[in-house]
Amino acid sequence: MEVNILPALQDNYMYLIVDKETNSAAIVDPVNPDRVLEAVKAHNVNLTAILTTHHHWDHAGGNEELVKKCDSSLKVYGGDDRIGALTNKVKQDDVINIGSLNIRCIFTPCHTTGHICYFVEAPSGEKSVFTGDTLFLGGCGRFFEGTAEQMYSALIDKLSALPDETLVYCGHEYTLQNLAFAKHVEPNNKEIIEKKVWSQKQRANLQPTIPSTIGEEKKINPFMRVNEPDVQSHAGLTDGIATMAYIRKKKDNFKA
Ligand SMILES: [Zn+2]
Repeated sequence: MEVNILPALQDNYMYLIVDKETNSAAIVDPVNPDRVLEAVKAHNVNLTAILTTHHHWDHAGGNEELVKKCDSSLKVYGGDDRIGALTNKVKQDDVINIGSLNIRCIFTPCHTTGHICYFVEAPSGEKSVFTGDTLFLGGCGRFFEGTAEQMYSALIDKLSALPDETLVYCGHEYTLQNLAFAKHVEPNNKEIIEKKVWSQKQRANLQPTIPSTIGEEKKINPFMRVNEPDVQSHAGLTDGIATMAYIRKKKDNFKA
């Protein structure tokens, strides 16, 4: 499996996922269709599917145009009727095949009620998850249409249960802001400090900080760590869901 990172708009990421065995490809959140078609041509792949994480314009806003510019066999997956050009509505544990790649849908409502993350496995054993605006590197999406219980279920019950080596590809380059907040929550967490230094270098060189891994997120992301004593004591709480609600509210108003 090959994942090509395609930056779009101010700080969005689109991802062209290629099955090296069959040259079939899928695109995650193609907000800039011309840039996608350029990449499809450059890599000489056969684009068969759009994987939409959620209906927000900066993720789903290019679907209709991309479908128009491709042939009619292009399938559009997503978990929300508000997604443009949707052909295949998916739910928890639905499976999509792109060549030899196996893609399992993970339903993660909260940022929006129809948010889906896509967990991709290759026959080689490589694993990646495309998390849209649910899980970011070092952070999580705002709770626009959901609750702390739902984000807890998404991050702790579902995404934390994926194998630690799973690569995490998220919807935005928010890493520096997120790690500034993570450090505020856990000032003594060395892994956060090291990741922050590394991320600053990456950004200074105009390189993405994506991907991380599920295992790494469990060490540095406060929203993946709401059951850790250090994060709970920062919140003055002893419950994971209450801690999730508390630190999200604090992050909403945090200035780095
Ligand atoms: Zn969004």
